[in-house]
Amino acid sequence: MAKIAINIATGSLQQEEIIVGIDLGTTNSLVAIMHPESKKPVALKEYNSSLPAGQAGSLVPSVIHFGDNKNITVGEEAKQYLVSDAANTVFSAKRLMGKTYKDVRHHITSLAYKIIDENNKPVKVQVGNTFYSAVELSALILKELKKQAEHILKTTVSKAVITVPAYFNDAQRQATRDAGKLAGLDVLRIINEPTAASLAYGFGMPSQSHPSGENPVGGEQAKIIVVYDLGGGTFDISVLNITGGIFEVLSTNGDTYLGGDDFDLAIIDYWISENNLDALHYRQLLRLNAEAAKKQLSSVAFYETVYEGITLSLNREKFEHLIKPIIEKTIVCCKQALMDAGIKKNNINEIVMVGGSTRIPLVKEMLSAFFGKKLNDSVDPDEVVAMGAAIQANILAGHTTDMLLLDITPLSLGLETMGGLMDVLLPRNSKIPAKASRQYTTYKDGQSGIKIAVYQGERDMVKDNRRLAEFNLTGIPGMPAGMPKVDISFLINADGILVVNAKELRSGIEQTIEVKPQFGLTDADVEKMLLDSMEHAKEDMDIRALTEAKTEGEQLLQTTEKFLQKHFDNLTQIEIAATSLAMQALQLSLELNDKNLIQTKTEELNDISRPYAERIMDLAIGKAMKGQQI
Ligand code: AMP
Repeated sequence: MAKIAINIATGSLQQEEIIVGIDLGTTNSLVAIMHPESKKPVALKEYNSSLPAGQAGSLVPSVIHFGDNKNITVGEEAKQYLVSDAANTVFSAKRLMGKTYKDVRHHITSLAYKIIDENNKPVKVQVGNTFYSAVELSALILKELKKQAEHILKTTVSKAVITVPAYFNDAQRQATRDAGKLAGLDVLRIINEPTAASLAYGFGMPSQSHPSGENPVGGEQAKIIVVYDLGGGTFDISVLNITGGIFEVLSTNGDTYLGGDDFDLAIIDYWISENNLDALHYRQLLRLNAEAAKKQLSSVAFYETVYEGITLSLNREKFEHLIKPIIEKTIVCCKQALMDAGIKKNNINEIVMVGGSTRIPLVKEMLSAFFGKKLNDSVDPDEVVAMGAAIQANILAGHTTDMLLLDITPLSLGLETMGGLMDVLLPRNSKIPAKASRQYTTYKDGQSGIKIAVYQGERDMVKDNRRLAEFNLTGIPGMPAGMPKVDISFLINADGILVVNAKELRSGIEQTIEVKPQFGLTDADVEKMLLDSMEHAKEDMDIRALTEAKTEGEQLLQTTEKFLQKHFDNLTQIEIAATSLAMQALQLSLELNDKNLIQTKTEELNDISRPYAERIMDLAIGKAMKGQQI
């Protein structure tokens, strides 16, 4: 167990070393740091204001373009390809973090790039013959941010605080950490975006850190903050309780497909019907002008442009009429969030505005009217989250004291899974006490025991981590593979003791052990383990991806083999021949250890077997239903 201050020391942090704050956004991303002279958080573009707007350090569009000869570009340049080379241009990768195909399938039509179904595993994006995980895609964005930050700050940047939405689950948070690691960043802390925004306004900070010198909601008394975040494609509302510098998220709500893009669409639809336009032909023109009109109407009352004899015009009143129903939807979410948090409007102390779309006067007006309160909108809504991350980075660097002195885990704790992979249950820097659990199952028919091996460390393969304990959960009743439900929980208590419990839920058998993760672990060991994980991040990620692809390929081969044996008579000769060929190809790719080839061959075998597997399932259901009355 370690105090944060000690943990920083074990991470060999030097006082001078810069820790950046990163807002890794769905649409745009931004880096901020604490300015060494003004002692205020600044977005990097302000740190070096001599740079022209739109250049290094500004908001970086979270867009990646995969050009010829593996030429990858990120940001403004990549954004230019969104329409002209849509299949090779990936945007909104954050929406895919920690998500399976089932989670995202309803929104796939809005993406022009190819998403691959990885069964119950996180989805992959296919560009040409290469498969990318959401972690790898986010890492490409983070790498670009790191490069820009190093260019501006003229020093190496290797430590960061990264923000995530408050509703991100453990897997999504871990994916964000992994992306940081892959980009060569030691992610000291993942913090919630609304927490960052509140920090940027000085809420929960010691009084000297507040921009105005006062401490609006510091001290021990609990304060309630609402963070309203309306960006380009997503809307989030969070209700926070801040007591004595500790931020607790009471509730979150929102819509992952609602934002500025919807305002643009409303304008486009209006112009199409007003001018009787061919929507397809003018798509790009309408899109660009709708956004320009929307932005202009935030400060003036009228917009007009003429193109090829077509006049596109809009006044503020009409615009507000068009977007009012969309803003009303956000208010419904606000009501729900308040209800979930059990908070009444008059208990709210502050309302913080985040996201580019909160610049729209009607958004502020309707929100202020709903809450019956003045809003906090003095910090740039595009920068407020990154600024808060920079403040948190400054706290971690030890420059701000008397905050967040919580006990934390200095290294990640996890289990060995198929192929010798490390599955992290409690990521490093988790607050203590902490609890996490996950369900596992067997991979062989009739398997009666499961080996539970507990490891500590940051590497992807358990062989490179520290083994803490191992035990067998035995006596699982004979069931087909995948049927048993083994719930494994990690509880690290206030004394730093880790209690690992494994329970098979169908039979109720269970076993528990206790370990002291910090026993025999020196600060130097922790430091070495952290440095090793950074040094081997790329290699680790590749081995993990290959191991996962192999496990999936091997499992598919096994199930297909079993299926063929059982249903041989229900299949045509052509189906059997095609399946055998695809199985051979997959087997060969497994022997070649080529991740992309394995994924392609797995997909191909899936594509061949899916139609007849479904047909046979339908047949079986038909038989079972025959003669039964509903
Ligand atoms: P974010 O996702 O927070 O970067 O917000 C991006 C969204 O904010 C986009 O839909 C932008 O068009 C929108 N936006 C940026 N500036 C303005 C403005 N001045 N008025 C209205 N919307 C804006």
